[in-house]
Amino acid sequence: MDISVDFSFFPDNLMQIVINSLEIKTSFVKNLQSSSTNNSSQKIINPTISIFEFPGNLKEFEDLLNCVLQKNSIKEYVVVQDTESENTLDLLKHGDIEQLGILSCDFCGAAFNSEDEKYIHQRAHYLF
Ligand SMILES: [Zn+2]
Repeated sequence: MDISVDFSFFPDNLMQIVINSLEIKTSFVKNLQSSSTNNSSQKIINPTISIFEFPGNLKEFEDLLNCVLQKNSIKEYVVVQDTESENTLDLLKHGDIEQLGILSCDFCGAAFNSEDEKYIHQRAHYLF
């Protein structure tokens, strides 16, 4: 499936590290300049959307991207599914996520849309 990753709020130098990482390099297709129609107060750092062709589903790619961030010690950013566009992942800064009403795991930074999802996910950290 084709997956779009929105790097608009992600620094350019870190984006290169992510795209060139072994895990997702082979899936990378191309970059698109995003039409920065985002008129929210958030500052667009890098108006780029990257297209990836990935054999798995969106959730698998989200996990993979989160792994890449962790491996490269990019701890201040997390990958979340875009609630408005289909098959799109956003890379957002921890602090910005909470403003958008998205919750993140206290342990690994994974993002959730509801307290319930976060609770169920966090429970898994205690089990394993
Ligand atoms: Zn977690």
